Parts: sequence; C-alpha cells; structure tokens
Amino acid sequence: MGGAPEPIAKVLAVLGGIKNAIPILKSIGNNSKDEAQIIDGKKIAADIRAEIKAEVERLKAKTGKVPGLAVVIVGERKDSQTYVRMKRKACDEVGIHSFHSELPETISEKELIDIVKGYNENPDCHGILVQLPLPKHIDEEKVLGEISLEKDVDGFHPLNIGMLAMKGHEPLFMPCTPKGSIVLLERSGVELKGKNAVVVGRSNIVGMPASMMLNKKDCTVTVVHSRTKNPKEICRQADILIAAAGSAKMIKGDWIKKGAAVIDVGTNSVEDKSKKSGYALVGDVDFAEAKKRASFITPVPGGVGPMTIAMLLQNCLDGGKRAIEGTK
Ligand code: NAP
Repeated sequence: MGGAPEPIAKVLAVLGGIKNAIPILKSIGNNSKDEAQIIDGKKIAADIRAEIKAEVERLKAKTGKVPGLAVVIVGERKDSQTYVRMKRKACDEVGIHSFHSELPETISEKELIDIVKGYNENPDCHGILVQLPLPKHIDEEKVLGEISLEKDVDGFHPLNIGMLAMKGHEPLFMPCTPKGSIVLLERSGVELKGKNAVVVGRSNIVGMPASMMLNKKDCTVTVVHSRTKNPKEICRQADILIAAAGSAKMIKGDWIKKGAAVIDVGTNSVEDKSKKSGYALVGDVDFAEAKKRASFITPVPGGVGPMTIAMLLQNCLDGGKRAIEGTK
C-alpha cells in the first residue's frame, strides 16, 4: 500500500495532514537547534514595496495621479547624499513621483523654510522630507515644524507625535524606523497584546516613538536609557525587545529572556580587518549570543534597515491617497 509508514502516518494524523505538519515539524526542528528564527527584513521590505507599487498603479489607473514626495537636502554630506539617492530610487521603482531640492550649505533658515512652504502649497506633492542633519546655523525643529501636518511623511511633526501619544487619537504618519520595527514583528506573527516590551533608547526618531507604538499595541512598555540603573535586569523581563541605543553589541545573550522577540535597530560601524572596507556594521545586540535565546531576531544589516525606506514609501502612498482619493 502507498502513503506514509505507520508511525509517520500517526504523527501526520495528529498534526492534521502533511500541509499542516510541515511548518509544525519545521518549528520543532528550530527548537531542537535552539536558535531564533531570523527575521528577513530585506524580504519583508521587498514584499511591501511590491504591494505599494501595485497600489500606486491602481491609483494612477483610477485617477491619473500618483503620490509625490519632495526630498530636500542641504549641504554636501556624503552620507546624506547617499540616503537621498536611495530614497529617490525607491520612489522611482514603485512609481511615486519625486521632487528634488539640493541646496547649498550657506542657505539661510528663512530661504529653506520658504522652499518647504512652496512644497506645502504644491498639490502634486503629498510628502516632504527634509534630510537631517541640517547645518548648525539652521534650527532643525523650526524647519520640521513648518512641514504641513498632511505632508509630514517622516512623522516627526510635534502634532503627529502628540497624536501618537494620546489615547483615542491616531497620527497621520508615524516615524519610519520604529514603524518598520513594529511591522517586522507583526509580519513575523509575533503577538504584541499584553506582552512586556522593553525599548532601549528614547530618541525622538526611534526609541520614544517605538515605545509609544508598542503602548498603542497594548504592550506594557519600559524604556531603558543611558541613566537607567539596572538595564540588564529590565531587558531580561522583555518578551519584546527593541534595541536602539547606538552602542555596538551592548546587549549580551544573558540580557535576553528565553523566547523573546528581538528587533535590533542599532547600526554601528566597527573595525573589521577581515573586510575589504576595513569595517563592519553591527547592531546593539550581540547577535551570535542572542540568537541562542531569542525566538525571533533581526540581523544587522538586513533587518530594520530595509524597512525604513519601505515605510517612507508607505507613508507617501497613504498621504497621496488621502489627498487624491480622500481616504482616511
Ligand atoms: P541617539 O539619538 O543617539 O539615541 C540613543 C538613545 O540610546 C538615547 O536615548 C540614549 O540615552 C540611549 N543610550 C545610549 N547608550 C546607551 C546605553 N549604553 N544604555 C542604555 N541606553 C543608551 O540614536 P538614534 O538616532 O535613536 O539611533 C539609535 C541607533 O539606531 C543608532 O545605531 C542608529 O544608527 C540606528 N538607526 C538605524 C536606523 C535604520 O534605518 N536602521 C534608523 C535610525 C537609527 P539618553 O537619552 O539618556 O542619552
């Protein structure tokens, strides 16, 4: 007779057939190796970009319009130029129109604000991104505060952050890196409701909004920062750990609760003679140690990094749809 041998057939019967059994058996395999599932940020970001492209095409077919993003860069910092180039290329790939203002280091604060105001008035532009840092003579907060709330695709406007913090309110946009971190957890099937979450770092762009997003997802959230007295003990309580301190491999294996989901936002450049460039990128988490204790973990690079631009595109699409179609 065909079919599975009897002991295997019995197991399959308990698991509910081959289709159900494969993922269960795979996860049993993982446990026996006692290693975390690696969250593939590159793959998840690529899936999201493909979804955005399809939605932009649908919008264009229906209305003849596409979302538009204005990218403003001041000065000639190489890293900023690289980020801006990547963002514009990503827009092109999904069909989002990008406007570009490349401005000299010497531009005055008023001139820069006038450019931002021009984009605020432009009906074909649905998102404005001012690449940070700005030169020292320009007040960053003042410039970011001039971006219209409806076009604040970085999600840094104080009113958007305020709505993120308040119960019963939703921001129009959420900051891209922490939003990407939460999406990685959700798309990996990690349950958030009722879990203990710890965020290491409280910056305006990552740690603070990440903690508020987790709170909105019904986590019980603790924030660790540079003055926290017992960070290791606090991190050991975390079912969900988001590391955004900017300190290479500071979170060791014994800081991780067995079975925790770990999102490593940290991107630190450390000397590595084995590499052609002479350096390597590492996270805030000691990946080799932590993957032996966590159930899910992001690598660096290839974890949160690719999600940041995917979330920027998502925010542009959402802003464009609100303006073009009147969606919420
Ligand atoms: P940041 O502005 O320097 O903030 C770092 C935060 O971590 C601060 O709140 C600081 O505490 C806290 N901190 C620093 N050292 C600590 C320690 N030893 N123990 C506990 N807390 C500590 O950095 P950021 O802009 O949030 O970025 C954080 C990391 O994420 C960096 O490595 C950055 O490169 C990376 N990043 C990655 C992406 C991406 O797309 N993948 C995007 C943004 C940032 P205090 O508040 O007390 O000073």
